Amino acid sequence: MNVLDIINHKRLGKILKEQEIEYIIKEYTNGNIPDYQMSSFLMAVLLKGMTEHEVIVFTKYMLESGDRIDLDSLTHVVDKHSTGGVGDKTTLIVGAIVAACGCRVAKMSGRGLGHTGGTIDKLESIPGMKVHLSESEFLKQVQDIGIAIVSQTSNLVPADKKIYALRDVTGTVESMALIASSIMSKKIASGSKNLVIDVKIGSGALIKTKKEARELAKLMIKIGKSYGIRVICLLTNMDTPLGNCIGNSLEVEEAIGVLKNKIDGPLRDLCIEIASYMVSLGQDIPYEEARVKVIMNLMNGNAYRKFVSFVKAQKGSLIFLPKSKYVYEIKSDRNGYINKIDALSLGKISMELGAGRVKINDKIDYGAGIVLNQQLGQYVHKGDILMYLHTSKKIDNLELGLDSFVIEKRKKVNTDIIYDVMK
Ligand code: URA
Repeated sequence: MNVLDIINHKRLGKILKEQEIEYIIKEYTNGNIPDYQMSSFLMAVLLKGMTEHEVIVFTKYMLESGDRIDLDSLTHVVDKHSTGGVGDKTTLIVGAIVAACGCRVAKMSGRGLGHTGGTIDKLESIPGMKVHLSESEFLKQVQDIGIAIVSQTSNLVPADKKIYALRDVTGTVESMALIASSIMSKKIASGSKNLVIDVKIGSGALIKTKKEARELAKLMIKIGKSYGIRVICLLTNMDTPLGNCIGNSLEVEEAIGVLKNKIDGPLRDLCIEIASYMVSLGQDIPYEEARVKVIMNLMNGNAYRKFVSFVKAQKGSLIFLPKSKYVYEIKSDRNGYINKIDALSLGKISMELGAGRVKINDKIDYGAGIVLNQQLGQYVHKGDILMYLHTSKKIDNLELGLDSFVIEKRKKVNTDIIYDVMK
């Protein structure tokens, strides 16, 4: 087998043979194919695409590069995934609700990179919280309290670790075939047979259009089917940040607010939807019945209590969440309706304030981030506070982030959060 032939086949738009896909993934993961040849291959995939069958085979060899977790000893197991966004703390809320409903959530999560946050960073903002458990500790906790969330182990799809890092610096992230195989190989390796995926669409997301989101969802559902995994995809809005808080401990506080029934709005609504589809899959019951269970367990405090016992089991303490040194107010410079709160630009500002990392080893300021003080569609007057910036850095520019808000005389705003559900 010759790597140059494989690159040329894909460059010419040919369908790759299984052996070619196996060869390129195995040899690259083992260090026998250099980055420059793999980059060229990935660019050919991005430009020419892959058939569904090629994507399924690609996923198979990604998966075979590492370990798989066996969750067969557990019942009612269900997993979730989000393709990433700004202010997305749904895992913290949904995990607790679903476990309170009697499902088991054995979740491996990632860290944030760039403008999107990661669940593991949010959890690590809780003092003492352990995100590395041995496999037996992990399984025991899921068995005992119904939920454990840990950092992905180094041998969970090592091929994806290498390929994703390369895609990140070679402009090859936005390939539906590569995104679908990257996500699904990790989810299959994580062991659940039931999966709800939140496919985010919009300025703050990887996927910018509903058409691309549908294509990605269809592929992931197909890959899931070929492994006996039931997948439901929710296509949701990420033009606007999810909820009011962006940044690690700020998002933990907001998640607690939802679990204590002190916060409603789009974040709570989306969590109820994701949790309902998860419970429906995990317990094999109709969606409507699952939704009643979800709302009941949220309203009666069981979900909040489940969150507290999950944090305690992983040695975290919720008494003093970290706070940044300074809080700055950003005020409106005009009267009008807020027609846009741009997720991408606020995600980037939050990262600059210290809440995120540019490189994977950068240090995070866990208390840093943004608290929005206004909602989409709201009327504001000049001088009203739009948001608070939490940071340990000194800031002179008190108009920072003002251009993330579009404020106009007429109200013209889309407040839809869920666009579609695909099975
Ligand atoms: N998330 C992943 O895990 N992989 C991708 O390729 C894109 C988003």
